[in-house]
This record gives sequence, structure tokens and C-alpha cells, in this order.
Amino acid sequence: MQKRTASIKLVTTTQQSALLSAVQRESARVCNTIVLLAHKNNCWNHVKLHRLAYYPIRATTTLGSQMVCNSLKAVCNAFKSLNYKKTKELPINTFKPSSSVHYDKKTYSFKDGALSLYTLSGRIVLPMALGKPQKEYLRIGTPKEAQLVYRNKKWFFNLVFDIPDVPLSKLSGKVLGVDLGENVVAATSSGKLYGGRQLRHKRDCAVAQRRRLQRKGTKSSKRKLKTTSDKEARHIKHTNHLISKAIVHEALDSECHVIALENLTNIRDRIKATKRVRYRLHGWAWAQLQRFIVYKAQAAGLKVVFVNPAYTSKTCAECKQLGIRVKHRFVCKVCGIQRHSDLNASLNISRIAASADAATGAVNHPNMEAALA
Ligand SMILES: [Zn+2]
Repeated sequence: MQKRTASIKLVTTTQQSALLSAVQRESARVCNTIVLLAHKNNCWNHVKLHRLAYYPIRATTTLGSQMVCNSLKAVCNAFKSLNYKKTKELPINTFKPSSSVHYDKKTYSFKDGALSLYTLSGRIVLPMALGKPQKEYLRIGTPKEAQLVYRNKKWFFNLVFDIPDVPLSKLSGKVLGVDLGENVVAATSSGKLYGGRQLRHKRDCAVAQRRRLQRKGTKSSKRKLKTTSDKEARHIKHTNHLISKAIVHEALDSECHVIALENLTNIRDRIKATKRVRYRLHGWAWAQLQRFIVYKAQAAGLKVVFVNPAYTSKTCAECKQLGIRVKHRFVCKVCGIQRHSDLNASLNISRIAASADAATGAVNHPNMEAALA
């Protein structure tokens, strides 16, 4: 079982938005009152604080009883998230009128594909703008606690799900290794390359234009720079969606149950490249591409593992000796193999993931949760 957070955008009328704001303000006020009580009694234990604060608070608020419980929970969560060896207490007025509101299963529910939420004037039903990952979490997961959040003039319901692990039979644990590469955007161990020359050309043009505009440095060139980089970001996002989708389909088609990726935290240090190549690397949203692959794979019931990228591009996937690189080709002088270097890397990733998973299960799993929220 793993926990995932889906950020669900809510569709609200002006009137509904006002009702949500009212809950938000009142619950922040109540939370701050609870913080004061906790300070006065030097009590931060959830059960004790509940006993101490519940009735006094209930007498002074229009919040329903369950929402008072949720406020107590929110205060205790905020306290727990402090490092309480160093800091003993929550600051007074920790909760702002714009703070998120804690909801639990008794204060929200789903009704005909919409979200029913507690407000001070009774329940309201709000349509949800669901993307693919959110739909998938709703389908396979068990919804748990949630935070109502107001961000960029829109309401979001950040809902935590328990997602069941996909059972893996030992025989079917075939691994698709994916190298997010230097020469192409991605290469897979089944032999496919994604985002080749055409994409690289487009990216090079964008990089060149950005440089030109940066050099110019005038007001209008800065404005132009902003719109072109927005456009480029959209293009990259779109391409990342297409590539991640294709990779997940490829895994399904080749009956792989596991997708192995590199732990990319150090990719930029790993690749010793010319200045031009480095520039292109920085221009690509690798973390975003990984994020897309992870959620699409999980939605399709595939497991995702992360391997240490050390030597994946320098080792021969056949004989495991160090080889040399000649432009896009990997050449092994020991066994004589020559192949596309990104493809060789993806074969190594697949091999490492398969052996690590079979032997110990000890493969890194970077936390993608925050990224998904
Ligand atoms: Zn070799």
C-alpha cells in the first residue's frame, strides 16, 4: 500500500466560493484558538487536547462537531510537522485566513461524480475537473483525509489516497529499462528511441533564440523572452506527455511489468558534455518526464523502480566491461558489440533493476509524492 495525493480542481460558482472562504476563515480562527489553549495548558497530545478543547471550542463556533475534530487534527499535524526537539510549541497565529482546511471522510463524500463538501451553511456539491491521474486514483484508490486549498483564485481538494501495490508474479517481472538520454530524449531496452533529430533541432532553435534575446537585454526582448520560454515550456510538456505515454504503451506491448528509470538527481553532474550539450540538457524537463512516466505507469498497473545511474552509459550491457563512446555509438572492445549509446544505457538500467529487484528489492525509490501533489 502506498499513499498518493491527488490535487483535484473544483468547479465553483461565486456563491459557492464564498461559502468555502467562510469555512476557511472560521477554521483558521478555531485552529488558532486551539493553539492558544494548547499553549496555556502545554498540551500537544491529540487525545488530551481533544478532551481539553473540544467543548470550549464548540461553544464558541458555528463549525460543526466533526469540523472541530478536524481542526484539532490540523493543529496536531502542524505540531507534528515541527521538529519538536528544537521547537517546543507552535507559534501563535500559525493558521492564516488563507490556510488549508482539513477534511476527513465524515465531512466530504462523492456524489454522482461530484464532491460533496461541508460548509457552515450545509453541504454543497461541487463538480470536479479531473485529469487522468486523478481519475485513476479515484478508480483504484481508497480516499482518506484531504486539504481544501485556495490557490491562484481557484479551489483545490488535495486528497490522499491509499493505492494498493500491484502484485508482481516473479515470472512476469520483465523490466523495461528507460534511459533519458543525451542524444535522444529517451531510449528503451526494447530498442526504441524517442525524440530524435527533429526534436533536437527544434530545441536548438529555441536555445539559439533565447541566447539572442538574452544578449540584447532590452525591455521588449525581455518580454519576447518570456513569451518564447512559455511557449517552449508548453511544447516540452506536450512532448513529455507523448513520450511518456508511448513508453508505457511499449512496456505493456512487450509484456514488461516493471519500468526502470535512473535516479536522476545527479544527471546533470553525471554527463560530462560540451557546453552546447549541457545547455540542451538544462533545457529539457527531465523531472517532469519522469513524473509523467511514473503516474502513467502506475495508472496502467505497472511498477516503477529507480536505479543508480553510475556507469549505465559507460558499461557494456553484454559483458559488463567498460567501453568507449564514439559519438552516438557505444563500442565495446572486449566483446566487440557496437550499438546506440543511449540504447546500451537503457539495457544496463533494465539489467540493474532486474538483478537488484530479484536479489534484495533494494532499488531506490525517490519520493515522487510531492511532485504529484
Ligand atoms: Zn562488451
